[in-house]
Amino acid sequence: MRNQPFVLAVHGGAGSITNQVISPAKEKEARNALESALAAGYAVLEEGGSSLDAVEAAVRLLEDAPVFNAGKGATFNKEGGIELDASIMDGKTRRAGAVAGTTTVKNPISAARAVMEKSAHVLLVGRGADQFAAAVGLEIVKPSYFWTPERWEELQRQLNNERRPPKRRTGTPPAGKAEKFGTVGAVALDMSGNLAAATSTGGISNKQFGRVGDSPIVGAGTYAENDCCAVSATGQGEFFIRYVLAYDIVALMKYKGLSIEQATARAIHQTLKEAGGQGGVIAVDGRGNVAIDFNTEGMYRGYILPGGKPQVAIFR
Ligand code: ASP
Repeated sequence: MRNQPFVLAVHGGAGSITNQVISPAKEKEARNALESALAAGYAVLEEGGSSLDAVEAAVRLLEDAPVFNAGKGATFNKEGGIELDASIMDGKTRRAGAVAGTTTVKNPISAARAVMEKSAHVLLVGRGADQFAAAVGLEIVKPSYFWTPERWEELQRQLNNERRPPKRRTGTPPAGKAEKFGTVGAVALDMSGNLAAATSTGGISNKQFGRVGDSPIVGAGTYAENDCCAVSATGQGEFFIRYVLAYDIVALMKYKGLSIEQATARAIHQTLKEAGGQGGVIAVDGRGNVAIDFNTEGMYRGYILPGGKPQVAIFR
């Protein structure tokens, strides 16, 4: 055991999050959920537990919080269904597990971990993922468990807008710009110097049935490699997949010698921005440096260091 400082960072998604858009009640709910997730992961790390256990514990709590778009409170697809994606990666062994399009696993992040530890595979999708999660004894719920009125209304608004496309005045931003990406994630460094990352999401509201984003794609939405860094992303998944953004941050550090702050800044403010994408990342390196960066108006985020108070922020 190296007995080095440990650290945990979490996010609840990036997007058009300002104090004009979010009610004080929602803000409080989000802050409380982020703090509970940090406390749960911290408790694991403080006792000498693994970064893998810490990120799973933190993400499970965020999945249970209806305020975020993961687990309960997930967004709906175009057909009014819920399809959940998640992945987890162990920086020590570079083993990874992921699920996509699940509909009945209460905590998809635990299903992702089970894929990593109890199957010969990395990614299971749809019915196969649901069946596997049930077979290994994870908690199964009816799809209606994930339903929340806010997300349902959000879908109805989007469907209505599609039926009656608004007349755009010159200079107004295109529809869809003002999105909130409520994906959740966690990255951690434990006392033994091991890194881990985890991400879980309902995807994007009004998505095509069967659409899979970056969150369950290793290298795109999630990545961890010891002595380099662990990354969890949020934003327009299609861009994160095409630009392999989580791994790009790792590659910038490994092959170009950039610091974690420089690598995340370049990925978000150069690569993602130039591609026309929106989003953010949380990352932690092997020395415990945390980098949180985004090119959206806000991002639900927080981190905690040894002996420290949880630091939580939402707006810029
Ligand atoms: N990245 C997620 C996806 O594209 C969405 C999000 O971050 O909220 O599925």
